[in-house]
Amino acid sequence: MTYDNRAIRNQFPIFAPRGGEAPVHYLDTAATAQIPRRVIETVSRLESEKRANVRRGVHRLAELATESFDQARETVAQYLNAGDTSEVIFTANTTDSINLVARSFGDGLQEGDEIVLSQAEHHGNLVPWLMLKERRGIALKFLPLQKNGRIDLSDLEATITERCKLIAITHASNVTGAITDIAPLITAARAMGAKVLVDGAQMAPHGPLDVQSLGVDFYAFSGHKCFGPTGIGVLWGRKDLLEALPPHKGGGGMIARVTLEKATFAPPPERFEAGTPPIAQAIGMAESLRWIRELDPIALEDHYKALMSETLTELEAMPGIGIIGPVDLRNRLPVISFTMEGAHPHDICQILDSHHVAARGGHHCAQPLMDYFDIQGTTRISFAPYNDRTDIHALLRGLGRAAEILK
Ligand code: PMP
Repeated sequence: MTYDNRAIRNQFPIFAPRGGEAPVHYLDTAATAQIPRRVIETVSRLESEKRANVRRGVHRLAELATESFDQARETVAQYLNAGDTSEVIFTANTTDSINLVARSFGDGLQEGDEIVLSQAEHHGNLVPWLMLKERRGIALKFLPLQKNGRIDLSDLEATITERCKLIAITHASNVTGAITDIAPLITAARAMGAKVLVDGAQMAPHGPLDVQSLGVDFYAFSGHKCFGPTGIGVLWGRKDLLEALPPHKGGGGMIARVTLEKATFAPPPERFEAGTPPIAQAIGMAESLRWIRELDPIALEDHYKALMSETLTELEAMPGIGIIGPVDLRNRLPVISFTMEGAHPHDICQILDSHHVAARGGHHCAQPLMDYFDIQGTTRISFAPYNDRTDIHALLRGLGRAAEILK
């Protein structure tokens, strides 16, 4: 079946023709996805018709805003198949969610405790733990990688020992697109009494999740990668775990009672949402998750496979191009990284830009992974439901030109 993405593309104002300007071939969804009109309209309606602070006021607008905000949390809970809406904490983004865990859970760790990561992590799931290491004297250990950049899960016992308190791992790499098999990590963690945090920044945009059957303890993702607004993210945490954790920030909205001597704290999720939350952003993100749910996952998977297969075949045939990451289509997201001999990714991306192709060049906030491949950076393209073969053809034309100019 061929996937007709025109109807989807038309839902995105960014692709509407404007004053004779060529429409962009947007291949940078892994950095930030484009936003459908209905999400923009949801945010706009909220701001025009129901703008008020949440949880505090008793006037009608405050009640309307609070109702929409609570509904957004319910929508996120459904998207994740959370056991309870109180398990959904609104944050600023994935990075903020992981920092929350590093502060609230991490500061309870002691010298000698270990956290296990991989060398493929985004800095968002590495730097908070490096900072915690400085604060608490804990040790970080890293799961090895296979040659193609996939996380090697074949000898977990070598890294995950009884000192391990947390495994913090990406669900899918933002550089290679490789999806991590979470199940063996859960088994290893449980055997050692460790918790598991999954960085879902790349995975969450690809459809509803089931945190309960995944068996994780924390799951983090960002609204802007899920076709929603910027400035909003989610930390999902298991109810019993969140209830036992202290707040990481203090202020309004997260307290039970405050005197001049002492503050006591509200239960989750409010305990972890000090100050006015990103109200319109949360409501917009909920609409974007509803939008994702309406996509046909099987047709989309086929569409991505066709796009990836064509792109990989063409890239592999180009002299001087090296694919960074797996070259098969199994267990991966529609993200492809590559190098071009003698050419810097920023120069490549600039030439692509002159062909109206938006691609990403650099280290992708994954410098240890670049070190592993012994490269400075890659050029990365990523596909979304609005992409089609015309985007690949524009990419290939641009790359052909880049090869001529930069060699
Ligand atoms: N983890 C991964 C795997 C990512 O791809 C990203 C975004 N590039 C992040 C974490 C950080 O996301 P954010 O910038 O939205 O906090």
